[in-house]
Amino acid sequence: MSDPIKLKSTIPQVARHLVTAIPGPQSISLQQEYDEFVSIGVGELMPFFAASASGATITDVDGNRFIDLAAGIAVTGVGNAAPEVVEAVRDQVGKFTHTNFATTPYQGYVAVCKKLSEHTPGSFAKKSVLLNSGAEAVENAVKIARRYTGRPAIVVMENSFHGRTNLTMAMTTKASPYKQGFGPFASDVYSVPYSYPLRDAYGADGAAAASATIEQIELLVGHDQVAAIVAEPVQGEGGFIVPANGFLKTLNEWAHEHQILYVSDEIQSGFCRTGRWFASEYSELEPDLITTAKALGGGLPISAVTGKAEIMDSVQPGGIGGTYGGNPVSCAASLAAVSIMERGNLAMRAEHIGHIIQQHLKPLEHDNPYVAEVRGLGAMQAVEFVKPGGLEPNAELVKRISIKAVQSGLIILTCGIHANVIRLLPPLIISDEELEEALNVLTAIIVEETKQ
Ligand SMILES: *Cc1c(COP(=O)(O)O)cnc(C)c1O
Repeated sequence: MSDPIKLKSTIPQVARHLVTAIPGPQSISLQQEYDEFVSIGVGELMPFFAASASGATITDVDGNRFIDLAAGIAVTGVGNAAPEVVEAVRDQVGKFTHTNFATTPYQGYVAVCKKLSEHTPGSFAKKSVLLNSGAEAVENAVKIARRYTGRPAIVVMENSFHGRTNLTMAMTTKASPYKQGFGPFASDVYSVPYSYPLRDAYGADGAAAASATIEQIELLVGHDQVAAIVAEPVQGEGGFIVPANGFLKTLNEWAHEHQILYVSDEIQSGFCRTGRWFASEYSELEPDLITTAKALGGGLPISAVTGKAEIMDSVQPGGIGGTYGGNPVSCAASLAAVSIMERGNLAMRAEHIGHIIQQHLKPLEHDNPYVAEVRGLGAMQAVEFVKPGGLEPNAELVKRISIKAVQSGLIILTCGIHANVIRLLPPLIISDEELEEALNVLTAIIVEETKQ
């Protein structure tokens, strides 16, 4: 582990505030109990323990303040502990905490469904079901698609991530850590190529990439067996991969010709993250079903499947849902969060954040032989690292940069099928000053770690 002091001295700490080495003594002491009582399978990225958070900063138990470029994996889009969300949660907890919506309905659930209808793409009547996690939303989208079409097969994209339950593991590409040793997996799930302009043979030609993918679907399963194609409009865990123009649109049109449902997994990309309410808008998609979670709850757990009313109503009563789905406290938080997005025009704000990140990092594509690509949509941006002279993934470098970043007061995440991508997804309310400070630190670290 290297010394954080050097970087501290070159870039003034304003939003950041480091008072100990990272991790500090309190975090080290908590880590001992963590090691004793928490399953190692949970995984852990940051060696420090949170004590409090506000907006785009998190303070640890030793009093160190970090700039948050992760937003708890795109969850705290409206900022951590956003005052309106906190207020709404406090208010709801005092009224009632749980009834089970199917036993005794309440207005908050209906209001969240109404907001989902309003903001998701598609100019048709829509309905929703509320659930608890992203994986649960994907599971339910598959159930609904199978029920509606009467077909068994589900087509997913290579490099996809859809969750950690049995069905969603089968729908996820990367074996380690997500699948290794956890089989057997659910059947009738077929994985086909996604457009990856940096690495595939089709580059910017999205229609050509889609033709190849369609050919593969016909080869593997045949269109008359397919209930749904499930795709992320920008791949998240897979590496913040933005598909070539026309790829998803072509796929979507082909699906409709064959009565296959198109399901857009917007769990990470949804709710203003990419500079639009939903990333599907970039591809002019009107998905039959959309899965959402993460930013939907403003920090509390909630997820949803939203889709064409006719499809959502094809399910027998009691066939979808659950004990906690659309918990009233989560619904209150969600309504407050969506209201912040509406009033603060956070989609526009996300676009602005994307411009600032690109301004800082895009030059590295040309200046730094380790940087293959700086890409993304809005406030969902990534840097893909390689070994100089080719496209061989460089996970080792990404690991070094991540460790340095934490030690310098930044919270960043990695991703990519080869773990060679650094992803930036700050809260959308981050100030320009906080973001600039974070990007200056990150750029300095990248330059330092790639010095030849
Ligand atoms: C995070 C994520 C999921 C899984 O959500 P969980 O709440 O962790 O189950 C599914 N799909 C995408 C695109 C995600 O980013």
